[in-house]
Amino acid sequence: MSAEDIARNITPASMQAMVFDKPGSPLRLVTMAVPEPYPTQVLVKITACGVCRTDLHVIDGELPHPKLPLVPGHEIVGTVVRTGKNVISLKQGDVIGIPWLGYTCGVCRYCLRQQENLCEKALFTGYTMDGGYAEYTVAYEQFCFSLAAQYAGPEGTPLLCAGLIGYRSYVMTGSNVRRLGIYGFGAAAHILIQVARHQGVEVYAFTRDGDKGSQDFALRMGATWAGDASARPPEVLDAAIIFAPAGELVPSALQSVDKGGVVVCGGIHMSDIPSFPYRLLWEERVIRSVANLTRKDGHDFLQLAPAVAIRTETQHFSLSQANEALDALRKGRIKGAAVLVM
Ligand SMILES: [Zn+2]
Ligand SMILES: [Zn+2]
Repeated sequence: MSAEDIARNITPASMQAMVFDKPGSPLRLVTMAVPEPYPTQVLVKITACGVCRTDLHVIDGELPHPKLPLVPGHEIVGTVVRTGKNVISLKQGDVIGIPWLGYTCGVCRYCLRQQENLCEKALFTGYTMDGGYAEYTVAYEQFCFSLAAQYAGPEGTPLLCAGLIGYRSYVMTGSNVRRLGIYGFGAAAHILIQVARHQGVEVYAFTRDGDKGSQDFALRMGATWAGDASARPPEVLDAAIIFAPAGELVPSALQSVDKGGVVVCGGIHMSDIPSFPYRLLWEERVIRSVANLTRKDGHDFLQLAPAVAIRTETQHFSLSQANEALDALRKGRIKGAAVLVM
């Protein structure tokens, strides 16, 4: 019996998934057909899928034109159970990670200048392609990552977006950073602080005002200082990363960074940024956003993760509890990352 026959025998015809229909209504648990991989795709049995703030932005209708109906989720760890006929490097039984960047065209001007994160024809897992709030999914082989053994379970899922986007944001702060501010201490921050500390960078963590729980969490994770987002840090910062989707943090962060400092907005959606005096930007301070990821970011970060010995804190939910997980994330009740475990 060929590997393909074995896969067919163990792969059922139908699966359970949590499906998004329209903004404002909760996800629905449905039984649907297990998807068929295209020739360059693999079929993956999902072990776990992280719940990311971007999923909330999709579900709240803050991101335009999602695939509908949609299976959300873009921090997927699973096992390849079948390969399309043109798949070269992956085989049945391989444990892989599937990130937000699901496909790029390879020929547009962005792809050709190493900015595939900006590709005009990009597809995004759990947004314009079905994602990981399900028992199975398909993914393009070239956009899957292999994972170190310690990240082959639920603990690995937050690396695939929170970790990756956090890392790309961190790289964008430049190479002269000794004191880094992080606004919003959730999934991305709790991973990034481990990279920063490993490199001897001091982290100043800002949370929602009065959120002592998150401030204690940041201090436990090695922050030099933790306080309210409206507060000034005790030292001037070399750079800051804003993960919280709150535009009013931009002028705040600018006020806290030194001359020449960069403020990176790491989220896909943010409320409007209020106007602010030019003196906050003066002296070559920079504001920039980070959009999506490239495969190079993924390879670089997933190679770094075991060297840093990154550990993630995860709160587990079952697939059918996806709405509860999203609600807990929305209310700031998740310490670390929420993960659906199939
Ligand atoms: Zn392209
Ligand atoms: Zn994400």
